Amino acid sequence: MKIISSVLRFASVAALVVACTPSESGTANANYPQQQQPPPPGYYPQQPPPPGYYPQQPPPQQPPPGPAPHLGGASAELLPPLVGIPAMEQEVRSILAELVDALPSATQARVRGIPLVFDPTIEVNAFAGCEEGGNPFLAGTAGLLEAVDAIAQTKATDEMFGTRTYDQYSDTVIPQMVRNPKAHPGLPAGLIPAQYGSDPRRWSRAREIFGDVMAFTFGHELAHHYLGHTGCANGQAMGPGPSPARLGHLATALLPGLNQPNEIASDGAGAVNALDAGRRRRPRYAWSERGGMLLLDYFSRLQRAIGINPFSPSAFLRSHPNPQLRMPLVQTVANTWRARNPG
Ligand SMILES: [Zn+2]
Repeated sequence: MKIISSVLRFASVAALVVACTPSESGTANANYPQQQQPPPPGYYPQQPPPPGYYPQQPPPQQPPPGPAPHLGGASAELLPPLVGIPAMEQEVRSILAELVDALPSATQARVRGIPLVFDPTIEVNAFAGCEEGGNPFLAGTAGLLEAVDAIAQTKATDEMFGTRTYDQYSDTVIPQMVRNPKAHPGLPAGLIPAQYGSDPRRWSRAREIFGDVMAFTFGHELAHHYLGHTGCANGQAMGPGPSPARLGHLATALLPGLNQPNEIASDGAGAVNALDAGRRRRPRYAWSERGGMLLLDYFSRLQRAIGINPFSPSAFLRSHPNPQLRMPLVQTVANTWRARNPG
């Protein structure tokens, strides 16, 4: 039995751009003296982690010496570390609420209260759908949380210390994912150099990047509902959404709704929503299209690793336009948004 009458796979992200402002690319090493002290015992385990292996203890919170960093639009305030799947789920719920709040009131009325369900599968995916009863929901997988956490942690490390951990991560993990459907997309233990692992500025920046990527991701998914692509988001009273167990099955078994014009429309609307919501966050870190560009870069790498394959193991890639084609569109949308919203 299908729970979902319509599933639009991942919408993810498209995004745009601007990944690297001059301040991002130019200041890293000078502002981030390498810390030589080792991480706390057990923080970066050297043995392969068990399933669900996110470290459960946050890193130390003592402020580092020297001025607060300012990279890539990072806020001056240090954010607490985002550690563990439950904390990431809560973060995404908070991001979704900000996205809804930033929508025009008539649009908000269609989607406010849509349940967000997390599915335990490790495939990297997110989607919008309708339950059999006709109620809308949004969903993300554990694999999405793991992957975006890895993207955020490696990108933050690279910005601050001039490393290439994102390349190392994607070169290592993505081929494993292609070969083995049980391979986790999360950050492997030991990939972040130990001397950087506990730096609270790195954790803070990673949390910002995590939010940027998720804002685009769920901005896109939310758009599938309010643009009418799913046909079930009409401002009705919302239920709790499907159970994660049922959703897990659906995430891997259902044929995605192949409708590439709708994907493009959701990319544009989702990017605008993330930019609008980001602007409202000031003086906190303002989301931009950068999150979408990071996500699309990740899927571009996955696409390259898979090659041309109509039976691609990635539902996201089977159901969406080539990420390389989506990037310019999202960038164009963001450029237009900036011209209309200076400042
Ligand atoms: Zn989509």
